Amino acid sequence: MISVDYHTHHWRCGHAQGQIEDYIKQALALGMSQIGISDHAPIYWQDGDDPMPKIAMAKSELPAYVDEVLRLKQKYADRIAVRLGLEVDYIEGAESLCAELLAPYPFDYLIGSVHYVYGRNVYDTAMWQGVSDPLPTYAEYYRLLSKSAQCGLFDIIAHSTAIVALAPKPIPSAIEPLQEAALGAIRQADVCVEINTSGYRKLGTEPFPTARMIGRARDLGIPLTFGSDAHHPSDVGYARERIQDLLNMLGVIELACFEGRQRGRIALMPRVFHA
Ligand SMILES: [Zn+2]
Ligand SMILES: [Zn+2]
Repeated sequence: MISVDYHTHHWRCGHAQGQIEDYIKQALALGMSQIGISDHAPIYWQDGDDPMPKIAMAKSELPAYVDEVLRLKQKYADRIAVRLGLEVDYIEGAESLCAELLAPYPFDYLIGSVHYVYGRNVYDTAMWQGVSDPLPTYAEYYRLLSKSAQCGLFDIIAHSTAIVALAPKPIPSAIEPLQEAALGAIRQADVCVEINTSGYRKLGTEPFPTARMIGRARDLGIPLTFGSDAHHPSDVGYARERIQDLLNMLGVIELACFEGRQRGRIALMPRVFHA
C-alpha cells in the first residue's frame, strides 16, 4: 500500500485546518512511513508581509514554520519520517526572488505549482469568464508547467492537470499534445510528478494529473510520488487505495521519496486481496 504522502497543509496558509502535528498523527494512524509537510510558501513576488492571507502564509511565518517541522521531525523520528517541504508557486520572471526565499532553509523537497495563468488563479471560476476559445489558456498553462520543471528550483511538479478542474467541458482532445510537450520537459529536467488526489475532491473522477497522463509519465520513465494535498488532517492519504490500484494496473512498482533534496525510491507493494 502507498505509505507516503508528500503534500499537506495546515492553518498557516489561512485556508487549511489543524496543526502540523495533527497531520503527522493522522499519517501514523494510517500506518504510513513518511509524511511530507508542504504548506503554501509566502507570496514572495509581491510586496508586504502577507499579501494574500487566505492563500498563503506570511513571509514572517516561514522561519517559525521551518522550526516547527524540524522539531516535529525530531519528536517523531522513531515512529515516522517527517519531511520538510514547501509548495511554491512558479511565477515566470520571479525565479531569483523565489531562490532567495528558499535558500536559508534545509528543505527535504520543494513542490512547484502553477496556480496563476495570465495572472488568474486556476481555481478561480473568473479564469474562464469571457473565454470563448479555451485552447490558448491551456497552452499557456502547460507552457508554464514546463518552465516550472525546467527552472531547477523544484523536485516535484504539483497537480499537473489542475487547469481542467474548472474548465468548460468537454475538454478538447487538442490539449493532449500540450500535455505531451510538458511531460517531455519534465522528463528532460529529471523532476518528479505527484499524483495529487485533490483531483478526486475537486472533479470526482480523476486525480491530477489524469490517469491517461499518469500512464504517459510511466511510459517516459518520469518518477511519480503521492500527495493528498490535505487541507484537513482527515485528508491525509486521501484515496490512496484508488491510486494504488491504478499504479498496480499500470505496472508502477515504486514511488519517489525525498530527503535533503535527494530523490530516493520506495517500493510499492501490490495490494493484497483476500477472497
Ligand atoms: Zn491550499
Ligand atoms: Zn497544495
